[in-house]
Amino acid sequence: MRNPHAGEPFTDDDQAIAAALEEVSVPALLCSLVHMTGDPAWIRGDIRPRVAMSLDIQSAIPAGERAEVRRRALPAIAAYRDGGCAPHELPRELLQEMMSFLGCQPVEGRLAGLYFDDLQFAGGDTSAITWGDDIPAEAKTAAPVVVVGCGLAGILAGIRLRQAGLPFVVGEPLPGRPGRRGEPPVTATRSSPRTTGASSTAGSRSCVPTSPRSSTSTACARTAGSTPPLPG
Ligand SMILES: Cc1cc2nc3c(=O)[nH]c(=O)nc-3n(C[C@H](O)[C@H](O)[C@H](O)COP(=O)(O)OP(=O)(O)OC[C@H]3O[C@@H](n4cnc5c(N)ncnc54)[C@H](O)[C@@H]3O)c2cc1C
Repeated sequence: MRNPHAGEPFTDDDQAIAAALEEVSVPALLCSLVHMTGDPAWIRGDIRPRVAMSLDIQSAIPAGERAEVRRRALPAIAAYRDGGCAPHELPRELLQEMMSFLGCQPVEGRLAGLYFDDLQFAGGDTSAITWGDDIPAEAKTAAPVVVVGCGLAGILAGIRLRQAGLPFVVGEPLPGRPGRRGEPPVTATRSSPRTTGASSTAGSRSCVPTSPRSSTSTACARTAGSTPPLPG
């Protein structure tokens, strides 16, 4: 199976690639080029991110340097395309070097472990719940779970609960725009027994949080069961 991080193979012509290159983050492009070519020289040259900040996807790389990277990237990407879009598997040390390159500081120790666990370079899910048949179906059915809040934590809890085969519901008072980007959290005036915020509890099938902004009680969504130069 193709590693999902590799993206779909593409056949765009050089002109389309050149146009797309105008839009990309050059630091991310340089790391992608390492994946595409297997050549670490892309991140070991003089053109490097100056500062890592989410508000500047170019990490303060000057415009002239960005143009130079794009110029060199085009034939490399075209060769990747012509070769069938097969990325190189990279050693862990090089992947960690790429993280440090992007972060403009050494990424080591537990932080590196966190990133490797989060990024799942091999395309798998090492935290997936795989207890198989160890737990009898009756025991799972007898342990329904309520997840309070359909933000990132709630969604992940739902994914894990589905993997675990446990029945669950996710309660969310903001239909259509859950999560911290929607509106401020609301105060629960009553909820099912033993429920806690954005976590899961067993022993109930319903949740009834109430928003102070609305007289209507919650929508309770049911999801259960359900330094060398650059190459080129
Ligand atoms: C403007 C903005 C931009 C951001 N950009 C990024 C980004 O680019 N990258 C990034 O990684 N992170 C970003 N974040 C941070 C990210 O959104 C949060 O870290 C993340 O949403 C936290 O997830 P959570 O599940 O803990 O909480 P939330 O996402 O806040 O989810 C909690 C959910 O619980 C619900 N809830 C609250 N009270 C109750 C109740 N009593 N009953 C039932 N449901 C309830 C809420 O409606 C909400 O849907 C951004 C945050 C903001 C505000």
